[in-house]
Amino acid sequence: MDKKKVVVVGAGITGLTAAYRLLKSKENFEVIVLESEKQTGGKLKTSRFAGFLLDEGADAFLARAPWAKSLFDEIGISKEFVSPRSRSASIWINGSLEPLPSPNVLGIPLDPDSISSGLLNSDDVLKIRKGGKPSKALPEGTDISIGSLLRDCVGDSVFELFVDPLLGGINAGLVDEMSCETMAPQLLEAANHEEGLVASLRKIQQNSDPESPVFYTHPNGLGHVVEKLAEQISDSIRENENVISISRTNEKWVIETNSGSETANAVVLATPAQNAAKLLTTISPTTASRLSDIEHASVSLVSFSFNNSDLRIQKNQSGFLVPRSAGMLMTACSFSGNKWTHLDDGTQTLIRVSSGRVDDERHETLSDEELVKHLLDDLSTTLGLDSQPLESRINRWPKALAQLKTGHLQRMKKTIDFLADEAPGVFISGSYHFGVGIPASVRSGNEVAASVIEKFGKNENFSA
Ligand SMILES: Cc1cc2nc3c(=O)[nH]c(=O)nc-3n(C[C@H](O)[C@H](O)[C@H](O)COP(=O)(O)OP(=O)(O)OC[C@H]3O[C@@H](n4cnc5c(N)ncnc54)[C@H](O)[C@@H]3O)c2cc1C
Repeated sequence: MDKKKVVVVGAGITGLTAAYRLLKSKENFEVIVLESEKQTGGKLKTSRFAGFLLDEGADAFLARAPWAKSLFDEIGISKEFVSPRSRSASIWINGSLEPLPSPNVLGIPLDPDSISSGLLNSDDVLKIRKGGKPSKALPEGTDISIGSLLRDCVGDSVFELFVDPLLGGINAGLVDEMSCETMAPQLLEAANHEEGLVASLRKIQQNSDPESPVFYTHPNGLGHVVEKLAEQISDSIRENENVISISRTNEKWVIETNSGSETANAVVLATPAQNAAKLLTTISPTTASRLSDIEHASVSLVSFSFNNSDLRIQKNQSGFLVPRSAGMLMTACSFSGNKWTHLDDGTQTLIRVSSGRVDDERHETLSDEELVKHLLDDLSTTLGLDSQPLESRINRWPKALAQLKTGHLQRMKKTIDFLADEAPGVFISGSYHFGVGIPASVRSGNEVAASVIEKFGKNENFSA
């Protein structure tokens, strides 16, 4: 039987998902995963720090979005997942830490009475009380920025104080430009509710279980989770193989690496957008140029361990966010030991401090020593810290977070159509497609596998 060969480039969560789906489908594919690094996982990477297994990049994923959880259910690892024990986060506002509204959805307060008086504009409080209706109906199928939607429904003060620091912090981006359809489709749906966005979110919240987990992680880190996924398809994975070029010969594709070449019927590029763009320059210049146009933010994370006696943080606090208006280098601080039981040994306090946004690249110009010093200064301002850490670790992530702007999904659809025309049999996927998080990356891996199966498979298909 004619066995179709598929080369997957990149063994981050997207590439591993795609390869796993292809190999577990009923099709008779030969799959090879080529990864340039010496280990699989990409941005999911765990290593020892201060005696703990601490993630260097992503450290948890959203429970609400189904794709990651169902993949991890399938490989049998999710029964080992844990959820944060503390959920109370704060925001640095006017020189002090203010609790995030409770309850809130993506920073949108559902009960304005939970917010310290005087923080919000009184017209915005009224908008929330009235249900947060948009000023005009949103035609179905159109995209709008999260900023424009929320400034309209709940007001500028709510957006700037709570939503922008939260969503902008997580994505290191400008929420005024972020595609609502891609990054928070639930808000578009809620805004179309007859009683308004806040009223709809309130109803959803009232009907949900307050104890149900919001995030999951693994006590051995997310690096362990991708290792378990990689184990399922280990015979297909080749590490230390950097793909240098892709060219066409007859009806097949030749994939050149640092150590040889492969000829395949199909190629799945599961790398960051900029790496995919480089590999596509000659075979699909339109796709290459469109992928290069996706802006990315760089971030630097510094993990610190302190003596418990040097840093006193209330046990129920999970961390805090810093809005760009504060002018600090730090964008967020996560109290890892408070959040996760497995990162608390009773003697040390572990925290992870983030810096970098799409419009703030100061961290990239600082040496490691300067970065640590600046972030310790920010911790001194916000937490009153006056001690030195026991240990610190720096993880720099250049051009790591794609900025998915208004109209993104439509643009991606067109990009994929151009690719199918210019380089049939070559596919793209990654965290620049449906969203930047792990669940959206798994979704992209699922969908690209479904597209390969649709084009090259013969049997009943896996459906994403
Ligand atoms: C600091 C940080 C914190 C984050 N925190 C969270 C979080 O808490 N929760 C969450 O859900 N998401 C988080 N994310 C986002 C999430 O980690 C990523 O979106 C996701 O891991 C991307 O997976 P991927 O497989 O698409 O890409 P990657 O992980 O980048 O994997 C791509 C792989 O392709 C390989 N590659 C590239 N070029 C080539 C080539 N030419 N040849 C061969 N191999 C190649 C790379 O080495 C890499 O292994 C975070 C991201 C960052 C940077």
